Amino acid sequence: MRHLRDGEAYCHLGTPTGHRARQTPEETINGIVQDAHKLDSSLLAPWQKIDAVNTFLIPRVAFVLRGSAVPKTPLKKADAEIRRLLKKWLHLPLRASNEVLHIPYRQGGANVPRMGDLGDIAVVTHAFRLLTCPDATVSIIAASALEETARKRIGRQPTGRDLATFLSGSLEGEFSRDGGDFASLWSRARNATRRLGKRIGCAWTWTEERRELAVSLQPAPHADSVTVTPRTRTFLERFLKDAVRNKYAGDLRAKPDQGKVFDVTSKWDASNHFMPSGSFTRFADWRFLHRARLNCLPLNGAVRFGHRDKRCRRCGYAAETLPHVLCSCKPHARAWQLRHNAVQDRLVRAIPAAAGQVSVNRTVPGCESQMRPDIVITDEEAKKITIVDVTIPFENRRQAFTDARARKREKYAPLADTLRGRGYDVTVDALIVGTLGAWDPSNESVLRACRVSRRYAKLMRCLMVSDTIRWSRDIYVEHITGHRQYTDPSRRTAAGPDPEGTA
Ligand SMILES: [Zn+2]
Repeated sequence: MRHLRDGEAYCHLGTPTGHRARQTPEETINGIVQDAHKLDSSLLAPWQKIDAVNTFLIPRVAFVLRGSAVPKTPLKKADAEIRRLLKKWLHLPLRASNEVLHIPYRQGGANVPRMGDLGDIAVVTHAFRLLTCPDATVSIIAASALEETARKRIGRQPTGRDLATFLSGSLEGEFSRDGGDFASLWSRARNATRRLGKRIGCAWTWTEERRELAVSLQPAPHADSVTVTPRTRTFLERFLKDAVRNKYAGDLRAKPDQGKVFDVTSKWDASNHFMPSGSFTRFADWRFLHRARLNCLPLNGAVRFGHRDKRCRRCGYAAETLPHVLCSCKPHARAWQLRHNAVQDRLVRAIPAAAGQVSVNRTVPGCESQMRPDIVITDEEAKKITIVDVTIPFENRRQAFTDARARKREKYAPLADTLRGRGYDVTVDALIVGTLGAWDPSNESVLRACRVSRRYAKLMRCLMVSDTIRWSRDIYVEHITGHRQYTDPSRRTAAGPDPEGTA
């Protein structure tokens, strides 16, 4: 057995251990950053690089954070470096919001936790586990060590409530005294709780009846707080992690500019199906998409400083913004139509014959109305007609989708009334996919009305999302460069290139 002097350490499961030794697992942290750089120079696809960070690098630091007292500075440095690489892989400029990096895949983020957050969560969880350990030897030693630290701080025997106040990081009254305590697990838990308290309402509580400590937290912004008691102790870590992720999502959603699209795209996981795997996504789409969703594309109307000309370079409209380019800049009208048709065709192909007679973009026979709804399904046997219009609006918060749906219903209301007069049961609805791939949750009732099989619906949502993203990317690039990015199928010759095959 080796003898250690004061301050000397040996490595125990990756953690430097010894009396008053510096416990920073620098080797582990540096190793992670070095490996992240190796990933960067590798030939992996960007989504594979992100996945590798999540699968192989972060669990390494998560493990040492549980066992060591890690100061904030090295973690902050490593976080900054990882953040820089993640933004590079997502093709985001440095000014893009950081939140998106820490948001789960299903909401459209990179799903990589901040090591600083993991450190705080690990300390609080570790302290709670010790204090509530089913093994009495462990919990009694932990409780008396905590009491001793709190007693030094407030200068008297602490009550249960005092312990909760102490651990919550209170700096009021007697808790503001300098207790002369050197860094211990308890002082670290106190600091970590204070930091988490500001963001997710994390605090320690004491119940007099049961004489036990618990941790309360706010699972999502504006949500009621939940309390983790010793009986539910194993859930604490997961609750804290989820609350932190929800906090990032809430912060991004609240941003007036960068949060607009996210507000819509984060609602349904199909809108972000490509995040972990890159499925149905070209590299060009990936490079376009994340910048577009955070409104970081270099368009004339998006530049906020200086007095640059904000007019559209193609049609001269007053503000060249992304919604203008993707939805209302006239030179791209044909491409919008093809984008619309791509989504419409997918739905038409998914309607089973049993649903009835399907007509696409035709007037309803025998009606005076000259309206041509995108899809009309007539089931003569059941006397049922379903009218569906496909629309691709820009993701200008939830309201844009609600309005688009209401407009479609209003537009076809007279036609529906005529058909009802003939004894049909009529439903009018819209299938909405945002220009940047947001799937509207209200589309689900449309899929049911069209009797699309559940199994195919799962794939179809992803394909429709990827179709619109691909078209929007092509429209944007043509807008900037002036080079045609697609082949118009109506003008395609037999030997012409296949626009689907450009991946
Ligand atoms: Zn224009």
